[in-house]
Amino acid sequence: RDYPMPRPIQATIHTESLRHNLARMRRAAPDARAWGVVKANAYGHGIERAFEGLRGADGFALLDLQEAERVRALGWRGPILLLEGVFEPRDLELCSRLSLWHTVHCDEQIDMLAAHKTQLPHRVFLKMNSGMNRLGFAPHRYRAAWARLDALPQVDEITLMTHFSDADTARGIGHQARVFAETTRDLPGERTLGNSAAALRFGQEAAVRADWVRPGIAVYGSAPDFPEHDIAHWGLQPTMTLASRLIAVQQLRPGDTVGYGSSFTAEAPLRIGVVACGYADGYPRHGPTGTPVLVDGVRTRLVGRVSMDMVTVDLTPVPQAGFGSEATLWGRAANGAVLPIDEVARAAGTVGYELMCAVAPRVPFAVD
Ligand code: PLP
Repeated sequence: RDYPMPRPIQATIHTESLRHNLARMRRAAPDARAWGVVKANAYGHGIERAFEGLRGADGFALLDLQEAERVRALGWRGPILLLEGVFEPRDLELCSRLSLWHTVHCDEQIDMLAAHKTQLPHRVFLKMNSGMNRLGFAPHRYRAAWARLDALPQVDEITLMTHFSDADTARGIGHQARVFAETTRDLPGERTLGNSAAALRFGQEAAVRADWVRPGIAVYGSAPDFPEHDIAHWGLQPTMTLASRLIAVQQLRPGDTVGYGSSFTAEAPLRIGVVACGYADGYPRHGPTGTPVLVDGVRTRLVGRVSMDMVTVDLTPVPQAGFGSEATLWGRAANGAVLPIDEVARAAGTVGYELMCAVAPRVPFAVD
């Protein structure tokens, strides 16, 4: 750009940390090949921006044909998997043209394949609903779906697939893994089961390791939703930093309030900084007073309500901070201090997935 940045906010994608996290997830499930899950524009990172850090994956899994085209445009010739399969018959043409593998989770998708005239046979991932009750064939219908696909000349390979609902909760994966293993016992073909949480917690178990794992969130430096463990525990690094600067400082007297709704009242004299980042940048509107923030790499807290373009922060731990000081909303500060996105998400009652996907288009990105 040849004009000055209108506001100091910026998101930065950390290529080396993407590489590090992918390698970490490979170690979690050592014999499996790893999909780089890049749906939702690489979890908000931007497919093109994340690609260099993720090119060591064995394939890329995503939802959208446009995103598949973008991955091919980056020169990727390896596997690409459509995690929800096709939505209408003409999508199958593009699958052939772009050599995409696709999930088959319902009868309508088998009907489309059966009606599709193709020179190039399709590699499909047949999804079982082993308990999530979202996509996939119920276990008692799975083998019939497999037989139907197997009989189609349009299909040359069938991979067996399921997805866990509770890999990151106390329920775990036992029941679903058992249902999947029993239903597929004597079926030929490769298998893929686990997401990040399953790979991290159960990756050494043969049931999860399978032939492919599908880690998304952990590769993007967010721990799956286990409240008890942060990314440092899992050996993961932040891959996205959202940073801005202080654009004003206010001195509050006891009894003064801050922001809309006057939701925070100073009990003692308090210096606060105004950070150029608000919910219109993707910062969570529900981040309450106390949500962690780094100023000049020092941990402090949000005070008052999040506005459209600004948040206000307590400068008590950073008396030297002033106009222009660095504010790290999540990720890595210039001094190396880390604020995991999960801590901000937890304070705001959400998960890292949502925050990283929601960085607004008006925020400029950089890659390092
Ligand atoms: N596999 C499938 C089918 C998914 O839908 C997802 C994401 O929801 C993933 C893998 C990656 O999951 P996670 O980001 O929790 O690792």
